[in-house]
Amino acid sequence: MANKKIIKERVPTRERAPEDRIKDFEEVNQGYTFELAVKEAERCLQCPYNYAPCIKGCPVHINIPGFISKLVQHRDNPDKAVREALGVIWQCNALPATTGRVCPQEDQCEKNCVMGKLGDKINIGKLERFVADYAREHGIDEELLSEMIPNIEKKEQSVAIVGAGPAGLTAAGELARQGYRVTMFEALHEAGGVLMYGIPEFRLPKAIVEKEINKLKTLGVDIRTDHIVGRTVTVDELLNEYDAVFISSGAGTPRLVNVPGVNLNGIYTANEFLTRINLMKAYKFPEYDTPIYVGEKVVVIGAGNTAMDAARSARRFGVDVTITYRRGEEFVSAREEEVEHAKQEGIKFEFLINPVEFIGDENGKVKAVKFEKMKLLDEVDSRGKRKIQGTGEYVTLPADTVIIAIGKTPNRLIINTSDFKVERGKIVVDENMMTSVEGVFAGGDAIRGEATVILAMGDGRKAAKAIDEYLKNKSQ
Ligand code: FAD
Ligand code: SF4
Ligand code: SF4
Repeated sequence: MANKKIIKERVPTRERAPEDRIKDFEEVNQGYTFELAVKEAERCLQCPYNYAPCIKGCPVHINIPGFISKLVQHRDNPDKAVREALGVIWQCNALPATTGRVCPQEDQCEKNCVMGKLGDKINIGKLERFVADYAREHGIDEELLSEMIPNIEKKEQSVAIVGAGPAGLTAAGELARQGYRVTMFEALHEAGGVLMYGIPEFRLPKAIVEKEINKLKTLGVDIRTDHIVGRTVTVDELLNEYDAVFISSGAGTPRLVNVPGVNLNGIYTANEFLTRINLMKAYKFPEYDTPIYVGEKVVVIGAGNTAMDAARSARRFGVDVTITYRRGEEFVSAREEEVEHAKQEGIKFEFLINPVEFIGDENGKVKAVKFEKMKLLDEVDSRGKRKIQGTGEYVTLPADTVIIAIGKTPNRLIINTSDFKVERGKIVVDENMMTSVEGVFAGGDAIRGEATVILAMGDGRKAAKAIDEYLKNKSQ
């Protein structure tokens, strides 16, 4: 490391121009080529495993210098480089094409990257994505998987998984690799959870998620869509049929703004708006028969990832979009890259305004939103955020469509139909991810509230390990 040449600047990824990309839903960031990935990989200082702050920052502790070094070491043989790098990543993360695209890297693996003190931090997310994409495009992931399958020792015990989002998919993969018979129950007509119905195509192409789901099928996982646990079948019925259950039903119930006019036509929750677009392909209407109305002026309420996704999706219908947030810009919780992309795409931002009324026309359709202007106080709240206070001054923004994106909570359906301990709407688990019901484990947004993909995947992995232990003890 002592003699290593420091290359301060990040190798940029290929990105589509804003004026082109707002005309369609195709992916914005085009990632690295092998040559560019090697150039970026060469910048990494290869911090020792026990010290590397990037590994500590990754919730699933991928050996980041380990996988990056493979790209440099085998630079003359791209297939070998990627195969070995993927082998390192797969030890901790089964969905790197997804996490490389959607993890909030600036708050996780890249946050304390040592290169940040000397220049730009290493672009870990885009390197991870490169490895996964190259492997998929060249059949390397299939090869690695098929080498794994003959070594799986089949077991008689079976596990039911409720919800096929990142937590459930990860647990299913881990358990199937350990030889268990795994059946997934998914309420929607497609598996994938938020990766499929929430995050838009221009950020995470659905073909990538479908490929991941197909890998699970290759491992023998039985995925039953259109099965709502709590309605089609109960958790207790699953416990009679399966040896253990993992609940990964996410946090799909949107929070609403409790002000007059919230039921006017033209007001969507971000969940409904994005589901229509992503899962039901409303942007291809009339080729797909899901209608969506956007009008000419769209106002989005909230400033998290969901708000950015809704705003950027609306922008692709050629309309004027404004994101409004009751706090200041420094508290925006969306990924940095999405905020930057939203700005480049001509989306306007209005900070420190809070909706107080939705104003309708004579037909009961929204035509404007009235906001109170807010000010920041010096006092901070329990989460360390500066408190805000109304100023008594108001501003009105015209709107044909309003999209509410102020957060989501776990669905109460499952919670109410079994004897779970619940706190603030979230299922409570012990240190082994087991709920208060023996043999039923839980993870992901169902226990955390709205969190992140990689945290949900980490839970899926931890739960799979705990279920394996539980079933081994049970069979003794
Ligand atoms: P989910 O992904 O919500 O999956 C739960 C699944 O369970 C769903 O498919 C649901 O249909 C199913 N289900 C629910 N109830 C039942 C039932 N009763 N029976 C059967 N099935 C059921 N995180 C990031 O890290 N980066 C991002 O960029 C990011 N962007 C986001 C954008 C949007 C629009 C949204 C909504 C979230 C975003 N998140 C992001 C958060 C992230 O997607 C979630 O934290 C993650 O998906 C949680 O995974 P999960 O498996 O716990 O739940
Ligand atoms: Fe970073 Fe997410 Fe990959 Fe971990 S999984 S290295 S946090 S991009
Ligand atoms: Fe490389 Fe940064 Fe991790 Fe060090 S902290 S190993 S420089 S990515």
